[in-house]
Amino acid sequence: MSGVDKISCPECGSGDIVPILYGMPGPEMASEVEEGRAVMGGCVIDEDAPMWLCRECNHKFGRVGPL
Ligand SMILES: [Zn+2]
Repeated sequence: MSGVDKISCPECGSGDIVPILYGMPGPEMASEVEEGRAVMGGCVIDEDAPMWLCRECNHKFGRVGPL
C-alpha cells in the first residue's frame, strides 16, 4: 500500500497502526495479515466499521465510509 498518510492512534498516540481489511481474504491479504501488516476485520462491512487498528492499545478508529 502506498500514499497512506502517517497515522497515529487517537487514544495513545502510537504510530503502530495497521489497516483493517474486510471481505474474503485473498492470498495477498493473507500474507499481509501473517506478516502483521494488516488485520482481518471479517467478511461483513458495517456502515461504521473501523478502518484502522492500533497495535499498541488495540483501539479501533476511523471509518470505512458510507457504502
Ligand atoms: Zn493506541
